[in-house]
Amino acid sequence: MSRTPDHATRASALAPPLLQAHALTCTFSISAGFFRSRRSLHAVNGVDLVLRQGEVLGIVGESGCGKSTVARMLLGLQLPSSGHITLDGQDVRQLGRRAVARRVQPVFQDPYSSLNPRRGIASIVSLPLEVHGVGTKPERRQQAVAMLERVGLPARYADHTPGQLSGGQRQRVAIARALVMQPEIVICDEPTSALDVSVQAQILNLLMDLRRDFGLTYVFISHNLAVVEHIATRVAVMYLGKVVEQAETATLFRAPRHPYTQALLASVLTPDPGLGIPDTGLGLAFPDPLNPPPGCPFHPRCAQRMTRCSKQPPVLTPGPQGSVACHLHPTPLVPGAAPAA
Ligand code: SF4
Repeated sequence: MSRTPDHATRASALAPPLLQAHALTCTFSISAGFFRSRRSLHAVNGVDLVLRQGEVLGIVGESGCGKSTVARMLLGLQLPSSGHITLDGQDVRQLGRRAVARRVQPVFQDPYSSLNPRRGIASIVSLPLEVHGVGTKPERRQQAVAMLERVGLPARYADHTPGQLSGGQRQRVAIARALVMQPEIVICDEPTSALDVSVQAQILNLLMDLRRDFGLTYVFISHNLAVVEHIATRVAVMYLGKVVEQAETATLFRAPRHPYTQALLASVLTPDPGLGIPDTGLGLAFPDPLNPPPGCPFHPRCAQRMTRCSKQPPVLTPGPQGSVACHLHPTPLVPGAAPAA
């Protein structure tokens, strides 16, 4: 697999923001049972993200950290409880769902559940064209077949149903359907997690080829750090609904600064079988999102916690190496400003 070139990372860092999340929150009201008041689950709690043209923004974290809820909000499938999303500086609520869908498309983890089992795959891929009133029926089929061929499915598959395809072929159909409207941004939510390991690399390479050929920008959500290191130009690490660290991929993997990022990277299995499974120091307990810890939400699992960590929540602070929310990395002093009391 070829690595994303550094010059592409630098070029995208200079591009203006394409998609931006501003202080996004998503709160669900959860029933606690009969005779008990409902409780609030803060799935996403104040997330700011910037996606620049040509970037691949990786979002990583354990299950339940809020990364898929962020994806659903970016796609307009889940309304934020507060905060807002802009596309080219315009609020997506003003642009409208259809206009956003033309430019932002999803690829989900399980293609089988998102593909109509009774339709032929050319019909599935041409559906977005039909919904947006593009071309005549024969033209739409022609475009769909061309896109299927582009993602590696020959025209003879055009009338196969999803049930006649392998998992990897179904994911190719889902990718063709996402790209047939020629979007600018693709939100990939665990796009290879349901696939055999042997097929994962093929789909990742296809996504990278398509990015190059169509000038695409990706948000790439995954719990697999090795995949994210390979594909992303920048990475945001989420924990309990918040971004705790964000940096360019090479910087984050070379010198992670947040103790949670350090533990996540330590948990990646080494290819050397003699070294065994590394101890992350995280333990198994992911905190109850209905009852998050006070102060730094990571403090019950953090080997480097200090007294203030259980009382004072750290703020995501930008710096030359990226942004981090941890009291070990305090806000840099602004020249001429009075020191904090
Ligand atoms: Fe650990 Fe404290 Fe940093 Fe939280 S703020 S990650 S508890 S050192």
